[in-house]
Amino acid sequence: MRDKYNREIKYLRVSLTELCNLRCRYCMPYDGVCKKKHEEMMTEEETISAIRVAAKLGITKIRLTGGEPLLKKNIVNIVSNIKKIDGIEEVCMTTNAVLLDKYANDLKNAGLDRINISLDTLKEDKFKYITRLGNLQDTLNGLDKALEVGFKKIKINTVLIGGFNDDEIVDFAKITIDKPIDVRFIELMPMYDSGDFGEKAFMPYDKALERIITYFGNDNIEKSENAKGSVAKLYKIKDAKGHLGFISPVNNHFCAECNRIRLTADGKLKPCLHSSQEIVIKGLSEDEMEKKIVEAIYAKPEKHDELSYVSRSKSNRNMNEIGG
Ligand code: SAM
Ligand code: SF4
Repeated sequence: MRDKYNREIKYLRVSLTELCNLRCRYCMPYDGVCKKKHEEMMTEEETISAIRVAAKLGITKIRLTGGEPLLKKNIVNIVSNIKKIDGIEEVCMTTNAVLLDKYANDLKNAGLDRINISLDTLKEDKFKYITRLGNLQDTLNGLDKALEVGFKKIKINTVLIGGFNDDEIVDFAKITIDKPIDVRFIELMPMYDSGDFGEKAFMPYDKALERIITYFGNDNIEKSENAKGSVAKLYKIKDAKGHLGFISPVNNHFCAECNRIRLTADGKLKPCLHSSQEIVIKGLSEDEMEKKIVEAIYAKPEKHDELSYVSRSKSNRNMNEIGG
């Protein structure tokens, strides 16, 4: 289905839970666990219904996210039920990979196509600092397992944080040389109240690209064609197995190419990541959901308001309550 601005909306990001086993400093407050009642959250059946209706309206790609999607009870079943829905071509997941070692095999067998693993540092002490609760080795084990089971695509998502991981940009880029993994650098977004990091920590994507070009040399960095619907600017180190991607929601927004809507774990459709507009579908029949999904697609703004440290996201939610 097309929105008011003739963008074809094919991609639904589904947050399965607001809960997380980490507490990344830019994403959620330390005590920011879900305060909502169980009855307020989407049931597994409601989520599957919403995806079935969305598929009828032209959604072909689903990304499961959270909070941490691997904490969701029955996650493997959920994936396999989504895969059975007519019209759904791809089921993807964004995860911190802490539990991936345990689930990767079953997820692959259930039909999960692609996996994005969030990883902001390759150093144990810094991992502990940024995630407040995590152990780097758990995520690295999850990444290895993902490679072993062979998902169609594996990406690492790294949030650029000046003064924290800008000294590791080249190390992350090097991962793509020998492994079939894409590394994508994402600009830090000033969300609702999650900011442990202020304006000084913001690093525009072109600075990261510049560092990579300086290190590897201009002749060794090739520009690549973007996959359809992808919001990343793609590059490749010569002869590398994976790509480098740069996602710049702040410095260079990509609203003109936006092909997505979002469903939160408490059953609200979000036409735009950075707007407070939410459309409730929790508790509705599939017919009623259909009307609401159409409404959400029509409600997509042409672009979001300015996003900066003086004009923070208008989302009124932290990222763990949206799903990224
Ligand atoms: N827990 C899963 C994970 O971390 O991959 C899925 C949910 S998490 C909210 C989805 C993505 O949002 C992660 O890649 C995370 O790094 C990113 N994210 C969270 N807060 C962000 C922020 N303020 N700016 C940019 N990216 C952010
Ligand atoms: Fe959890 Fe993902 Fe947010 Fe980190 S980024 S706190 S892993 S939801």
